[in-house]
Amino acid sequence: MDEKGVSEREILEELMNYRKLDLKYEDGKIFGSMCSNVLPITRKIVDMFLETNLGDPGLFKGTKLLEEKAVELLGSLLNNKKAYGHIVSGGTEANLMALRCIKNIWREKRRKGLSKNEHPKIIIPITAHFSFEKGRDMMDLSYIYAPLKKDYTVDEKFVKDAVEDYEIDGIVGIAGTTELGTIDNIEELSKIAKENNIYIHVDAAFGGLVIPFLEEKYKKKNINYNFDFSLGVDSITIDPHKMGHCPIPSGGILFKDISYRKYLDVYTPYLTETKQATILGTRVGFGGACTYAVLKYLGREGQRKIVSECMENTLYLYKKLKENGFNPVIEPVLNIVAIEDEDYKDVCMKLRDKGIYVSVCNCVKALRVVVMPHIKREHIDNFIEILKEVKKD
Ligand code: PLP
Repeated sequence: MDEKGVSEREILEELMNYRKLDLKYEDGKIFGSMCSNVLPITRKIVDMFLETNLGDPGLFKGTKLLEEKAVELLGSLLNNKKAYGHIVSGGTEANLMALRCIKNIWREKRRKGLSKNEHPKIIIPITAHFSFEKGRDMMDLSYIYAPLKKDYTVDEKFVKDAVEDYEIDGIVGIAGTTELGTIDNIEELSKIAKENNIYIHVDAAFGGLVIPFLEEKYKKKNINYNFDFSLGVDSITIDPHKMGHCPIPSGGILFKDISYRKYLDVYTPYLTETKQATILGTRVGFGGACTYAVLKYLGREGQRKIVSECMENTLYLYKKLKENGFNPVIEPVLNIVAIEDEDYKDVCMKLRDKGIYVSVCNCVKALRVVVMPHIKREHIDNFIEILKEVKKD
């Protein structure tokens, strides 16, 4: 660090040069991300709440109230006005909080001599996001990985059998898988969990702000779209920074009610509140403010319109791919399209060399495209042309 500072103009110019190296959503080259542009109103809110810290909520009472209101709104969307939760750092922290809750319920059972498991045992679909691997590693969890059925949703029969064969502490279901956008049969999983008094967590980080807004015309007969608290689930991850047009990092974690908090709280003696449930300590306050504001600002109607536009573009991409001889893995369930390709990793890198950033699947050899709000028809046409070029080479 130099002794003397530099002028604001000089340093901002330097930063701008670095910023220019970044891709911009609006350029239509980011096809593999679950993040997108924020709404213009969001920029103003971030500025207003930039210095707030929900790690010390007694200092920021208004911001804390807004986080509560955001949770209440998400709760009402998920059929539970009594939900307790937080707007945290993305789906990762949200999922880690659910896993911590499962772990501490197991610990309580162990203390009472009610569990023989040496580690909390959790059934988790093989399509689960890698945040669950972080949780397994940090909390010494023991996973039973559930395979998929032909439609790429979790095999409930396997889950049912595993519950009969082992003492299970938690079940995870996914409403909108990262790779394909498929929706596990949460109703069935929830039934299995409730009948056996097992905790069930739903990862709807992506699907949570899509599924409730899907118009009937996009729904398929053989898919069960129910995933929320009306099924009796214990917790749900739902991320405003994915399909909710909020700034990174806005992840949502909701528990059925406040009684779950005791499994999360640690003692925080020197803060304005003496208990803290989130994994991060010092944490941004604008996530809650933006979530509340954007949901209020758009209303159900506004969000439905955005979701429908994404679905129309998804179906357009699907149709164009087929017309050009490509093979999508499934008919799109949400605004995600996976394209079968034996050389998917190589093709992904070649596309990148041409300035197109898709991602890849893990559960099937395929490229993966997320049709976020920043993806327009002309971007899709351009993508198809470049994909054709790459495949010709
Ligand atoms: N859960 C699902 C289903 C996801 O798709 C993702 C991210 O893509 C996450 C959790 C993790 O979210 P984040 O990257 O915001 O931590």
